[in-house]
Amino acid sequence: MMEEKGKENGVAAMAACYQKFDPAAYLQYNYTPPRADFTRKDSIVPWKLACLHRAFTEGDVNGELLVDIGSGPTLYQVLSGCEVFSKVLLTDYLEVNRQELRRWLQGGEGCSLDWTPYLQHVCKLEGRRPSAWTEKAAKLRQTVADVLPVDVHSSQPLAPDALPPGGADCLVSCFCLESVSPDLPAFTRALAHIQKLLRPGGHLLLIGALGESYYFGGPGVRIPVVPLNEAQVCDSLKESDYTLIRLEVYTLPQDMRVGVDDVTGVFFVKARKE
Ligand code: SAM
Repeated sequence: MMEEKGKENGVAAMAACYQKFDPAAYLQYNYTPPRADFTRKDSIVPWKLACLHRAFTEGDVNGELLVDIGSGPTLYQVLSGCEVFSKVLLTDYLEVNRQELRRWLQGGEGCSLDWTPYLQHVCKLEGRRPSAWTEKAAKLRQTVADVLPVDVHSSQPLAPDALPPGGADCLVSCFCLESVSPDLPAFTRALAHIQKLLRPGGHLLLIGALGESYYFGGPGVRIPVVPLNEAQVCDSLKESDYTLIRLEVYTLPQDMRVGVDDVTGVFFVKARKE
């Protein structure tokens, strides 16, 4: 009983931290140079895009439905997947983030970030000419079927009728679980909750922060994060019944440490639900 109350309090404290999340500031901190410098291979965003491109083009990740868990105000995480899956669902806990995504989907008027360099970069990874970015943008707008509320701390993170009865074919989730969980057990439980959304044999592509204890979700909006190491990520996946296929690690160069968080590295996981 006391233990349940403690869990609820931890989750409620995290929810309170997110009330002041500022999508435009978050995009500015994390999705502009130096973290998104497409002229550098060691910049964090090109590294993430390369991991996702590889995972989505290896041939084993396929099906109809891709669901992105905790999309925030960002689209980079589905730029490769929208070429493989016929339907993509974006999700976030906050309405301000869902609005930011809808603005882009409805044509881009009033968006806080220009996604063009991202679209161009992924076109290049796919061996297409950079000018094909307009086709990719159209493809993404056509493939994203909805932007839905999600809560990874609920045993049922999406509305009951959001997914087909068999579940999604693939889940992608970036920097969500560790930055919304009060502690490691909550992170592991969140992994188990989203596992229920996936069909057996379906894939999870998980990107997250290593060694991070906080990040800024806006000016003065300090959000606590569960500091993870690689072994903890692997143990949590195992506990939540995923089979690890690949774990890759990126270490932040000194000049990517720009004072908006204390992250030291990033992990990329490809896993399967048995
Ligand atoms: N996926 C984006 C990215 O790669 O930059 C955003 C990550 S941001 C660090 C964490 C996101 O988790 C925020 O968009 C926030 O609104 C969302 N979030 C907060 N509480 C959540 C919850 N209980 N369940 C799911 N997502 C949540």
